[in-house]
Amino acid sequence: MEISVTKPFLPDFEEYTKKIFGIWEREWLTNFGALHDQLNNSLMERLRLKNLSLFTNGHLALESALEALDVTGEVITTPFTFASTTNAIIRKGLTPIFCDISADTYCIDPNKIEKLITANTTAILPVHVYGNVCDIEKIQEIAQKYHLKVIYDAAHGFGVEYNECGLGTFGDAVMFSFHATKIFHTIEGGGVSYSDNNLSENFKKIQNFGLDSSGNIDYSGGNGKMNEFQAAMGLCNLEYIDCIIEIRQKLFQEYDKILSEIQGISLPIRQKHVRHNYSYYYITIDSEIFGENRDTVYDRLHFNKIYARKYFYPLTNKVIKDLNGQNNLPIAQKISESVLVLPLYTTLTLVEISRICNIIKEGH
Ligand SMILES: *Cc1c(COP(=O)(O)O)cnc(C)c1O
Repeated sequence: MEISVTKPFLPDFEEYTKKIFGIWEREWLTNFGALHDQLNNSLMERLRLKNLSLFTNGHLALESALEALDVTGEVITTPFTFASTTNAIIRKGLTPIFCDISADTYCIDPNKIEKLITANTTAILPVHVYGNVCDIEKIQEIAQKYHLKVIYDAAHGFGVEYNECGLGTFGDAVMFSFHATKIFHTIEGGGVSYSDNNLSENFKKIQNFGLDSSGNIDYSGGNGKMNEFQAAMGLCNLEYIDCIIEIRQKLFQEYDKILSEIQGISLPIRQKHVRHNYSYYYITIDSEIFGENRDTVYDRLHFNKIYARKYFYPLTNKVIKDLNGQNNLPIAQKISESVLVLPLYTTLTLVEISRICNIIKEGH
């Protein structure tokens, strides 16, 4: 039996068809429809946000956040993330400057940010990778001192809370991804949350060709609207999200229980004052202690049709390598070469987890 790293959650089929029934009655498919608005409100409530703009996908939401906040020049970011983060910076004509990560959270190391700031730096783009929470206070302190904007990539952070506040409330803008593989999804989709109410008009123009409320165009916006079928999927899935997180937590605990007994494997961290969403089960393998390196374990899992993933490896794609030869990223390099993301989805069974762990253990 094949086991993939993730599987999309699907709500009850009848529930979805019931939800889309109204689309035929209203004959309204996209452009800020009833379901779009309903999802927007429900998400603001669930994620404890002040403002939220929904997008076609998370990547576009991130590009739009850079655009709406008028980011220019250099953006300090993490190399340890999905390609989307860096690509968004580059596609907006900006220069990514890579900062190394912390050895515990794998998020950007705030102690290494300041020495990367130049006269051209205008923003910091950290990632709450695996749903781990960045050092929000220190990042904010630096941003204030140097008048930088902070845009978080919280693609992995749906439902995560820090000091009982939604992750989307920290920073100037926060991007969420609602892609099918994320713990909450709208098939494809994403959102940006922000604290400044005035940004709402900017986001609307960016995602709807620059049209203002009276139909005039004074801005060269694009198209990034979430349609009604996406919103319907989101509304259905939102009913399940607490249950999804709960199931994943149980699976997490099972992995923890078995793997904690193996020397040389480090487990996902739990952070203080954080309500986790259990979005990724990632381990790192210390080959000296474990006796085998990550790639060997990965190959054995794949041989057994268990498709664990090397998220995020390699650290740099071709484009980035050519960009600015920034090689001083020892922690990110080391983690990237030793990390493995194990299968995790709601229909994964405890028996399957035990089988996965046994195959990992074989090399030990
Ligand atoms: C998934 C992901 C994105 C992109 O989101 P999409 O909704 O797939 O466009 C961006 N950043 C990170 C870290 C992601 O994992």
